[in-house]
Parts: sequence; C-alpha cells; structure tokens
Amino acid sequence: MRRRSFLAGLGAVALFGRVAQAASDEERTIALTFDDGPHPELTPQLLEILERQQVPATFFVVGTCAQRWPEVVRRAFSAGHEIGNHSWSHPFLTECSAARVTQEIERTDALLHDLTGERPNTVRPPYGAVNGEIRQIALPRPMMLWDVDTNDWRSRNTAAVERAAIGSAGGIVLMHDIHRTTVEAVPAIIGSFKARGYRFVTISSYVNWTLTNPSWLDQV
Ligand code: ZN
Repeated sequence: MRRRSFLAGLGAVALFGRVAQAASDEERTIALTFDDGPHPELTPQLLEILERQQVPATFFVVGTCAQRWPEVVRRAFSAGHEIGNHSWSHPFLTECSAARVTQEIERTDALLHDLTGERPNTVRPPYGAVNGEIRQIALPRPMMLWDVDTNDWRSRNTAAVERAAIGSAGGIVLMHDIHRTTVEAVPAIIGSFKARGYRFVTISSYVNWTLTNPSWLDQV
C-alpha cells in the first residue's frame, strides 16, 4: 500500500479510516521532500527551480547544517516551503538514548524556531529508523517517512532519479538536496507530474492535519 509509510509514524491502526479518507482526496497529489540540507550552493539552485515552477516543497534539514547555512533555511521558509526537523546531527536515533533523542529533536526545533519563527510541524528520523519510544518523544508530531524512495543518494545519477520519481504514483517522494544529480532531476520530475495533473503540496498539507492542534490524538 502506497500510503502506509506515514501510518508507520503514527503507529495507530485506529487512524486508518481517517487516513484513507484523506488519501482519497489526495489521490493526485505529490509532496517533494528534500533531506539532509541545507547545502550552500545546491539548495539555493533548487529554490530557484521551485520558484520558477511555482512548486512548494518540504526541506527536512539537519540542525548542524541549518546552523552553518541559516540564510538558506530562511530563504526556503520565506519562499513558502515547509521546514521539517531531521535531527541535529543525523544519527540512527534507534541507537541513541532517550535523552539523546530528545536533545537531537529539541535542539533542532529551537534553532529552526529562531530562524523561521515557527517550530517545525514534522519530524523525519534519519535513515527512517524509528521505534515506539522515539515516536513518543516526537509526539504530538508524527514521524514522517515516505511513499517513494528515489535512492538518489545511492545512484547519484540524474536519469535514475528521474525514472524513480516519474515512474511512481506520487505521494511523499524522498530526495536529498545535497546532490547535484538530484537537483538536476527536479525540473523533469515536476514537468512530468504537472503534465499528469498532479497538485504539489508541502508535507503538512499532504497529511492534511493541523498539527498545531493535537486533537487528532484523541483518536489514537
Ligand atoms: Zn537524512
């Protein structure tokens, strides 16, 4: 099932009905997500592409990178893109103590709040490595995984990244804005999904929840 990935972040079968309902409304929707930045040169190049195409995206930034390149984060945010929390130093959170997990998430939250004025609505665990304890720490925010893994970090090949994304049915697409080959694949990916009538959204819009209002937790 294509949309099971973010259910994993919730760990609650009771929510399935609600998710299925949201999914039917979002059938031709795509959320481009870019992890591990910001990158001082490639992320601004990507921002120019997204601006030209009038497409919103989501950047799951690493705290240490955001600290080093804060102006890139500010620019992405002010252009209307969503900034997500991808931990402070990109460890396997499943191998960290609860205290370290909390620190990884909270330190990044604090920096991103300083840079944007908002606490991120979403957290994505590095490597997708997550367990029940980590989910509890991140609550009320879900751990956002993905529907489509382009494996862009492995292929480092623009044509392969294009094929992986374009060959999918949309949903949440995982990419990394720290590889030139990925940024160069984005125009063709956007063009293909636009031609197929897809709507581009940030990840919070995709999930269609107001995460600042944790009332959805009542259903867990
Ligand atoms: Zn990552």
